[in-house]
Amino acid sequence: MYEQSGALLRGHFVLSSGRHADTYLQSALVLMDLGNAERLARALVEKLPAGFACDYVCAPAIGGLVIGQEVARLLKKPYIFTERKHGVMQLRRGFRLFAGARVLIVEDVVTTGGSVKECAMVVDRAGGRVVQILALVDRAPETDKGFPAPFAALLDLSVPSWAPEACPLCRDPEAGPPVRPGSRQA
Ligand code: ZN
Repeated sequence: MYEQSGALLRGHFVLSSGRHADTYLQSALVLMDLGNAERLARALVEKLPAGFACDYVCAPAIGGLVIGQEVARLLKKPYIFTERKHGVMQLRRGFRLFAGARVLIVEDVVTTGGSVKECAMVVDRAGGRVVQILALVDRAPETDKGFPAPFAALLDLSVPSWAPEACPLCRDPEAGPPVRPGSRQA
């Protein structure tokens, strides 16, 4: 679906984790077709364990917003999102959780899982309890992300990424400077 949507980009990118990569998954291009969004959300919901229950669906903005909403629609649960202000992930807009609320976090693409972990900390501080994490794509399936709850992704796509100082593209004069298509600001 990413290939068909032209959402599998090749070039020189800074991921939201700060790492550099030659491949970028632009989920927004896949999800602009809401039929795709619905199909992907259904597939994500099928990843949930039998008997799964939650009180809220929560997504880290901006990446998780569209797919999170579709998952919440299918589960018929209230949908909230966390967002960064001055670089700090927060629950804004009057969103609140009741004490002990069970929260499903939905993200589009995870590499280090940084945004999801920040989102989970916000949920925790708001009195909620993260019970499951779902993502469309896991870009680093071989690494343990240290998530506070079970995690499942629709697609494991191991693509190399490098710390900036180790990035071969930064040393390649033909590669050009890295671009930042993600949503997290440095
Ligand atoms: Zn680079």
